[in-house]
Amino acid sequence: MRAMVWFRSDLRVRDNPALAAACADASRGVVGVFAVCPEQWAEHDWGPPRVGFLLRALRDLSVSLDRMNIPLRIVTTPRFDGAPAAMDGLAASLACDAIYFSNEYEINERRRDDAVERRFAQAGRAVRRFDGRVILPPGSVRTKAGGMSRVFTPFRRAWLARLDEEGGVSTAARPDKQPERPCPPDPIPDRVAGFDPGDDPADHWPATERAAHDRLGGFIEDRLSAYHEARDAPAADGTSRLSPYLTHGLISPGACLAAALEAGGASALAKPGTTGPSAWISELVWREFYIHLLAAHPRLSMGRAFQPVTERLTWSDDDEAFDAWREGRTGYPIVDAAMRCLTATGWMHNRLRMVVAMFLTKDLWIDWRRGEAHFMRRLVDGDLASNNGGWQWSASTGTDAAPYFRIYNPTTQGERHDPDARFIKTWLPELADLDVRPAHDPSRLPPPARRRLGYPEPICDHAERRERAIAAFKALGATPTGARA
Ligand SMILES: Cc1cc2nc3c(=O)[nH]c(=O)nc-3n(C[C@H](O)[C@H](O)[C@H](O)COP(=O)(O)OP(=O)(O)OC[C@H]3O[C@@H](n4cnc5c(N)ncnc54)[C@H](O)[C@@H]3O)c2cc1C
Repeated sequence: MRAMVWFRSDLRVRDNPALAAACADASRGVVGVFAVCPEQWAEHDWGPPRVGFLLRALRDLSVSLDRMNIPLRIVTTPRFDGAPAAMDGLAASLACDAIYFSNEYEINERRRDDAVERRFAQAGRAVRRFDGRVILPPGSVRTKAGGMSRVFTPFRRAWLARLDEEGGVSTAARPDKQPERPCPPDPIPDRVAGFDPGDDPADHWPATERAAHDRLGGFIEDRLSAYHEARDAPAADGTSRLSPYLTHGLISPGACLAAALEAGGASALAKPGTTGPSAWISELVWREFYIHLLAAHPRLSMGRAFQPVTERLTWSDDDEAFDAWREGRTGYPIVDAAMRCLTATGWMHNRLRMVVAMFLTKDLWIDWRRGEAHFMRRLVDGDLASNNGGWQWSASTGTDAAPYFRIYNPTTQGERHDPDARFIKTWLPELADLDVRPAHDPSRLPPPARRRLGYPEPICDHAERRERAIAAFKALGATPTGARA
């Protein structure tokens, strides 16, 4: 039997259940394949940072696979609807009897995979599907009533109970070198049309499995124990910065959880937030929560609000305000610093993602979907489940979302989480010489001093906009989490 492994968001050889099973089953070799789908990617708002990271990760994967006698082939099919013919054609030409892959849970991806499965079945070829993107597969975490909880805390409880029933984290064995190489590998493209490689913040994100594991090891060793205290400070390197590696699958979530459980010992499952390991494990569970929600509610992949009542909100179409937000010119330093950091590095700290998302939706009253799409285009870790979850949380349109009346004051958020204005001054050099208080709020300076800064005046009055947003939600008859009363 010759097996084909279709890599997607699992670009790794370690702890990859699809690859491990294919290698165990095959007697006549294994072929890897990746499908480049430029039109579909553009439609899904992928941008140059995401695609640049992906191509670099493919290069690393191809080298690792080659050492195992597994060639990585590249097929190009502009849209997903070409995948069944492309995969089947490759399988036929290389005499592969079966295809192995890890499930993706977004709606277009699911339809694509189901179509590939049907095509392979018609051709008499086997299909084996795995769940390498998550620790526990969607649908497997249920409340006592039998459904999936829409609220994080009970979901987390049920998730941990389920993990326990499973006997803890299981990881796939690293496959052995294959005795036979069925064909040579394809070269990995340097670029994909429509995604400018010049916009890939490559210096910030080495895209190798080794880099992912080094990052995990360094985080566990140096920062895990204080994570619960340092995680909200964007100037401190307090979080793992593993999100691009998890999004593209250069490291498995199971490997992250296993490392945290081992390092944390009894403290790993303490009340979330009371110890570094328990707080970090909770974040891994948030990631799973959003993936499980996306799988259970296909409308989340279709740009729909989780709380249907919030579809009736009429958002502003102020393009100038949107551009000011995107380019970091709102006159609110913490928002502008965060947005400029995103443009330069393809990444933003979680606290700041919440601050800028709330500012766009509640202060500027711009549709969360526009912010969500912009994030996808700029993030190196852009992931539909977490991005949609984060945006709907911030906009109070999601499940277990921020109550609509709890609106962050951007200045106070900056002062609380960047107390010495180090983050702000890193990204807004025009404020670098100011004392801490005016750096957070330059409008505290007299007008001539303000003018000399070359920094914009605040785009809006936060207190006024806050009232407007609360009134709009109230008028819907929404409950504090956005659901109908
Ligand atoms: C508006 C908004 C948009 C977001 N978009 C994305 C996105 O496109 N891709 C993405 O991976 N994350 C997204 N997040 C979640 C979170 O901000 C990032 O995962 C986190 O900042 C990554 O940094 P880290 O790897 O240092 O995280 P750590 O704090 O070290 O956490 C470890 C891992 O847990 C997961 N995680 C942490 N926080 C969350 C969270 N709130 N929700 C879901 N998973 C989480 C991530 O995989 C992360 O790498 C978004 C959050 C918001 C509020």
